[in-house]
Amino acid sequence: MPCFDCLTFDNGYSQLPASFYSRVMPQALDNPRLVSVNPKVAHLLDLDSDDRDDMLAVTSGQRVPAGADPLAMAYAGHQFGIYVPHLGDGRALLLGEVRNVHGERWDLHLKGSGHTPYSRQGDGRAVLRSSIREYLACEAMHGLGIPTTRALCLVDSDTPVQRESLETAAAIIRVAPSHVRFGSFEYFYYRHKHVELRQLAEFVITAHFPALAGRDDRYSLFYREVIKRTAEMIARWQAVGFCHGVMNTDNMSILGLTLDYGPFGFMEAFDAGHVCNHSDVQRRYAFNQQPDIGYWNCACLGQALLPLLGDDVDLIKEMLGHYPDDFSSAYSSLMRQKAGLMTQEKSDSFLFDNLLTLMQKNGTDYTLFFRRLCDFEPCRENAPLKVLFKDQDALTQWCQIYSNRLKLEQEKADTRQMTMKKVNPKYVLRNYMVQIAIDKAVEGDYSEIDHLLALVQKPFAEWPEYEHYAELPPNWGDVLEVSCSS
Ligand code: AMP
Ligand code: MG
Repeated sequence: MPCFDCLTFDNGYSQLPASFYSRVMPQALDNPRLVSVNPKVAHLLDLDSDDRDDMLAVTSGQRVPAGADPLAMAYAGHQFGIYVPHLGDGRALLLGEVRNVHGERWDLHLKGSGHTPYSRQGDGRAVLRSSIREYLACEAMHGLGIPTTRALCLVDSDTPVQRESLETAAAIIRVAPSHVRFGSFEYFYYRHKHVELRQLAEFVITAHFPALAGRDDRYSLFYREVIKRTAEMIARWQAVGFCHGVMNTDNMSILGLTLDYGPFGFMEAFDAGHVCNHSDVQRRYAFNQQPDIGYWNCACLGQALLPLLGDDVDLIKEMLGHYPDDFSSAYSSLMRQKAGLMTQEKSDSFLFDNLLTLMQKNGTDYTLFFRRLCDFEPCRENAPLKVLFKDQDALTQWCQIYSNRLKLEQEKADTRQMTMKKVNPKYVLRNYMVQIAIDKAVEGDYSEIDHLLALVQKPFAEWPEYEHYAELPPNWGDVLEVSCSS
């Protein structure tokens, strides 16, 4: 039996009323090639990753698995601050929901599957370069311990797609417990469809927040939990230096997962105001804006939930009021871990503020700095750290303060170093690394994709064969531009 037909489909979303989605069949890609299968995600689904024929057939849209019920989900969203009522899956389909042997439910989401009623002017396709980026990025985030959608496999094809130039279409199967977004709730709220709004909330709560099901205060507790998860997810982004690039409310997962990888980027030379999306001319989604945008997006969600909360604006405000603390306690705890501080001191925030200011002035590579900090030795030269700074005297001063701070810690130096290497990655998925994989793939050589997949899934480990990826990025990486074009 083909491997996808062995899955246990338990499609809940397609049981919701017709206004939640449109049933659509995938449109097959021309001459598809299987680029990569992610065995870890196949394992999550109890899927046989060796059945490459079926992986190819399903991902390329040639075959719909028995038990699947493909549909394009309807949603709306605030895009760059402006409400857009008609979005929805314009180039993706929820193939169905499966349950694995542990009873966990997973959405199978095929991205790049062709036209849907929500495609607007789009062609319903995803180009190879953006599919490679998403395929690798979500696994990189998972490897870093950041909640995210996952990716099962990637297919390339000869189907032509026009972007700035002519490219080819690809597809990935994305996997997550749910693909419901903030914008899914906004869709019904702004249409004054309060019955459907309630049905959506009940669906999400029953499936994903079962402890709240049936409680009188379930909607407010649900909102509170989404706020918490969102703040904690963004704290993790900030601590690792991840810039999402398009934090529209239609790209905000109701489960607090990093969702929809477009022009994302990992921080290289530290710049708090870094904008990774070349199309974001107003700098709305700059790195240092992400925490506030998370708050703004949660406020949008709160507005959409008002009808379920008796239009109690004060309750929404009270719940939102937790966001800043949720964010800063998660962020400061992550930053302390990065610096090997097990205890908490009032002055710690100054230590980090000073450090980031120093890194900004010196264009210090964010990932390299923290990885090298793991080997920091008080009262020593610490040359590998120093070379990352133009103003080495300023760093020496900071190191002095850091050394004094470390004296307040109980931990032995080698234990601290070991713990720090578990939270400060040696590897992040830098744009130039993905670009190498993309350039090769365009030439028909897909090998670097699997190399990078393995690498980013274990970013804290030592990989002697990939030592070059743990160095400063090459200069040509600086001029790479990524935009909304995908
Ligand atoms: P994104 O910027 O990828 O989050 O997409 C925003 C909206 O545009 C979503 O509704 C997408 O489904 C839709 N979209 C993006 N690209 C395409 C495309 N090539 N064809 C059809 N719809 C698209
Ligand atoms: Mg999107």
